[in-house]
Amino acid sequence: MIRAAEEVLEYPMVDQDPLDHWTVGRVTLLGDAAHPMVPRGSNGAAQAILDGRVLAARLAESGDPYQALRAYETERLAATSRVVLTNRVNPPDALLREVYDRTGDRPFERIDDVMSPEEIRRFSESYQAVAGYSHAALARP
Ligand SMILES: Cc1cc2nc3c(=O)[nH]c(=O)nc-3n(C[C@H](O)[C@H](O)[C@H](O)COP(=O)(O)OP(=O)(O)OC[C@H]3O[C@@H](n4cnc5c(N)ncnc54)[C@H](O)[C@@H]3O)c2cc1C
Repeated sequence: MIRAAEEVLEYPMVDQDPLDHWTVGRVTLLGDAAHPMVPRGSNGAAQAILDGRVLAARLAESGDPYQALRAYETERLAATSRVVLTNRVNPPDALLREVYDRTGDRPFERIDDVMSPEEIRRFSESYQAVAGYSHAALARP
């Protein structure tokens, strides 16, 4: 189902509910064709690149392209579905919403007075973990 993003966000962009499969025989999907998402946090392009990385790796290591496409789908479909759904409710710029809520949109001198560096780091790392950009995820071969 195509879902209007303005149902959950305030600007007219759309995403799509995660699909239950991408692969039919020797054909699979990648990038926006597989998982259109609201592009928050430089996500759409970055997830397409991560798809490409995994697809290339599975094809290179497997002698069976059918099996390689299935392995790629297994790895990336669940991961990108989490990003699509997280972007609807708790996107990377949720940090801005939190600051807005805490300050009532009133000016402030120092961000540290609103939110501790530790909280800011936790916000960032929790999204990185969902999107697959955490240091640990990127360090994996
Ligand atoms: C307004 C807007 C802002 C965005 N901002 C960001 C951002 O800040 N950061 C971010 O990471 N992402 C952003 N995105 C999302 C990002 O652009 C996409 O997620 C990304 O381009 C997807 O890459 P893709 O390769 O899957 O698809 P695409 O980049 O769409 O590539 C598909 C290609 O296939 C070609 N094609 C289509 N049909 C055929 C055909 N029949 N035969 C041959 N070729 C065909 C198309 O011409 C196109 O070149 C934004 C998107 C929009 C619309």
